[in-house]
Amino acid sequence: MRNHEAVVIGAGPGGYEAALQLARAGVKTLVIEQIEARIGGTCLNEGCIPTKNYLRSAQYFSKASFFKENGLDIEVSGLDLKRLKNRTDLLKNELRSGLLWMMKQAGIEFLYGTAHFVDDKTIEVAGEKITFDKCIIATGSQVKDLPLLPIDGKNIISNREIFKLEKLPESIAIIGGGAIGCEFATFFNAFGVDVTLVEYLSQLVPSEDADIAAALMRGFKKQRINVLTSSFVQKAQQKEDGVELHISGQMQDIIMCETVLCATGRIPYTQGLGIENCSVKVNEKGFIEVNESFQTANKSIYAVGDCIETLAYAHTAYAEAKIAVQNIINHSSEVNSHVTPSVVFSNPAIGSYGIKEKEAKEKGFDIEVKKAFFKANPKAKIEGNDSGFAKIIVCANSGVILGSSIIGAGAAEIIHEMVLAVEKKIKMEEFKGIIHAHPTFSEILSSL
Ligand SMILES: Cc1cc2nc3c(=O)[nH]c(=O)nc-3n(C[C@H](O)[C@H](O)[C@H](O)COP(=O)(O)OP(=O)(O)OC[C@H]3O[C@@H](n4cnc5c(N)ncnc54)[C@H](O)[C@@H]3O)c2cc1C
Repeated sequence: MRNHEAVVIGAGPGGYEAALQLARAGVKTLVIEQIEARIGGTCLNEGCIPTKNYLRSAQYFSKASFFKENGLDIEVSGLDLKRLKNRTDLLKNELRSGLLWMMKQAGIEFLYGTAHFVDDKTIEVAGEKITFDKCIIATGSQVKDLPLLPIDGKNIISNREIFKLEKLPESIAIIGGGAIGCEFATFFNAFGVDVTLVEYLSQLVPSEDADIAAALMRGFKKQRINVLTSSFVQKAQQKEDGVELHISGQMQDIIMCETVLCATGRIPYTQGLGIENCSVKVNEKGFIEVNESFQTANKSIYAVGDCIETLAYAHTAYAEAKIAVQNIINHSSEVNSHVTPSVVFSNPAIGSYGIKEKEAKEKGFDIEVKKAFFKANPKAKIEGNDSGFAKIIVCANSGVILGSSIIGAGAAEIIHEMVLAVEKKIKMEEFKGIIHAHPTFSEILSSL
């Protein structure tokens, strides 16, 4: 039996960030991950990185005709998915090697296998028992499939299987209109796949501002994505050439598609972790319960990232890991005082931060809503992508900026300016005085 000052379970963004912070503070740290190829977690293997690499090709491809109009003598005939997959695998390997190198340089030790709590102080991995002074659980999340649509890896797939495909399907039904569903709808649509997007709620990207969601819907419809909101799959039947879906709700339809992609959300991954053997608690949805300092019911065990009930983003996991480690090192109980920015890399893209118009009104805040459109933004015109707008929510009494939502080119980047403005409680009058370089997407914010 060996003892480590700190054991981190999971090497996704939450786990590797926690381990790096611990090791750099001089804490003897062990990381447990299932296999070496999982280093980087969901984010690197089947989440943020591969989706964004796939979307980059989609973005370029969609621009081909615009480039031609601009005098570029190019011919792009389509997508060789196998080559994109191979290139993405190389990118993942490169990033994983870099991460491993950095962690090893920091003196972090690794153990591969499934970590399983035996009791409050002991973890077992492949028959080996390890004790710890402090432990951080960062086991992430997994796909939530629907009972009607169990993932079979053939016709019914999740984001995991997408990155194994070597050929595009002719048609795809994407179930779930959240960020993941909308990003994949953008990808497949760009390459001419017949896309139907089914969302149970009345708007796409349900956690975003209603105006933004409506603009995304318009954008998708313009691109001929078949969007069915307030709708759900009532029945699914496997056929020889695909899956027949019976859609109910506001939209009644029968759709035949070659592939179904389940993007109906994610559930915490605590399978095989032996939570029941220690005093760590999970809530009714299966998320590990933590206090504001990311400490579980067992004061020596912390949990961060997708396995707890906070926004499921890599940057949330990083932020939580940093705070949990600070609390371990300083014996403190710091909390996360920052709001998480949201981004959706669809076409058009979305970035948002802080309060939304609806929420502000529900809370009875007296607000002013400022809006500016990319139509009047020279950079957006140059890029051939001038749809969308920026919206800022301002407190009518104090003039302080409370939140912002942006849809259009560069939204995922320029939202960070609004992050700073909201975090630092900047007033609209002060913000207006900031000079933005010309011509940039960010300039849209100076026309508000
Ligand atoms: C398709 C898709 C696109 C996404 N795009 C973005 C994006 O653009 N931006 C963004 O911020 N977020 C994005 N996300 C979300 C992001 O991937 C997650 O929020 C992030 O990976 C969570 O990090 P984590 O460390 O909590 O968990 P994970 O990344 O899931 O890592 C957990 C790790 O723990 C390991 N593990 C689990 N149980 C055990 C055990 N018992 N023993 C040992 N190891 C174990 C797993 O193998 C896994 O590697 C996306 C997700 C998906 C699915």
